[in-house]
Amino acid sequence: MTKVIVQECESYEVNQIMNQINGGIEALGGWSQFVKPLDRVLLKVNLIGPKPPESAAITHFDFVRAIVRILRVQECEVWIGDSSGGAIAGIAPTAQAFQVSGLEQMAKEEGALIKNFDKEGAVEVPRTSKSGETMFLAKPLFDADVVINLPKFKTHSMGIYTGAVKNVFGCLPGLRKAKYHRDAPAPEAFGAILADIHQALPISLHIMDGIVAMQGEGPTAGDPYPAKKILISRDPMALDTVAMSMIGLHPEEVPILSEAIAQEIGASVLEEIEIVAKPESLLQLENFQLPKRYQSTKKQSYSSLIRVIDFLKTRPEVNRKKCVNCNMCVESCPVEAIDRETKKIDYELCIECLCCHELCRYEAVELKRVNFMARVMMKFYRGKH
Ligand code: SF4
Ligand code: SF4
Repeated sequence: MTKVIVQECESYEVNQIMNQINGGIEALGGWSQFVKPLDRVLLKVNLIGPKPPESAAITHFDFVRAIVRILRVQECEVWIGDSSGGAIAGIAPTAQAFQVSGLEQMAKEEGALIKNFDKEGAVEVPRTSKSGETMFLAKPLFDADVVINLPKFKTHSMGIYTGAVKNVFGCLPGLRKAKYHRDAPAPEAFGAILADIHQALPISLHIMDGIVAMQGEGPTAGDPYPAKKILISRDPMALDTVAMSMIGLHPEEVPILSEAIAQEIGASVLEEIEIVAKPESLLQLENFQLPKRYQSTKKQSYSSLIRVIDFLKTRPEVNRKKCVNCNMCVESCPVEAIDRETKKIDYELCIECLCCHELCRYEAVELKRVNFMARVMMKFYRGKH
């Protein structure tokens, strides 16, 4: 029977978090089940955007610090990685998000390495739900010996809830995330990409930051809720099933999980999960606010979302006036989409990973709006500000 460990944790005091996580891992057989000395361990955090830790929108830097310290004791090399949201708006805020979140500074202090997925290259892997189709995932996920998922416990105004299953969306580097929102705007269809990522990735452990969760209109505009919980499991679906049960939800009520349930990426029935928690542990979060959409019976229309994505779409373009022909972009492009001589990008090949944009030291790879009217409006806006 798959196990989910629920630990109580009052605050982001690092020693307390370390004790609770170590205690939870003991119940799963100890750290030796997951890592060995000299392993390169990638911590996939939730870094949805440039949000401060007190927003409860991201995995808290001291939660990550505690796990870095634990892994350093296990003599592992630790990497911290993600690609932030922003693709719908055509922006690439991952570098800024690492700074604002406190993760970059913490990594420096603890001797961990930051892996901004938007500049690390990508690996092509097959999609389980769409025979013959592929997707590109950030390369560090495959370079690491071990990947540990560190989701945040949050509501989601479109998807109701977001946790361990949804957190892998940031494994898609750069702007390609917008394509999946556009091609499958309904949460049920969108969930297929999440299930496919889980099928493609070797994630061995999931540790959820539920010390301060987000309630209401998550995943960025909700309110902090002191849930005081850390959830640990090998199984992302089981972990989410237990987390959702604490706020009165069942996996069938969360449409983005339907494909994950269909692909059986884990246990989605509470009776099939062994919950390991202290007897006094409160497994119901009192007065936790779900998003308004949960109450709504209104049928959703996704055509306006598609129009917004199309209008705001950006793509990389080399500004020849700034370019010094160093060819860093050409050599770092994982699909060889940039012509060495002209620096023209073949958009049929481009996977929008943003490596060229992130790696150009001369800021010569610019993100340009594809829609003519959007370009004009941006010019006008910049002129006014
Ligand atoms: S990395 Fe920047 S400067 Fe170098 S060739 Fe590419 S666009 Fe030009
Ligand atoms: S041109 Fe290459 S490096 Fe740049 S975004 Fe496209 S695929 Fe990525």
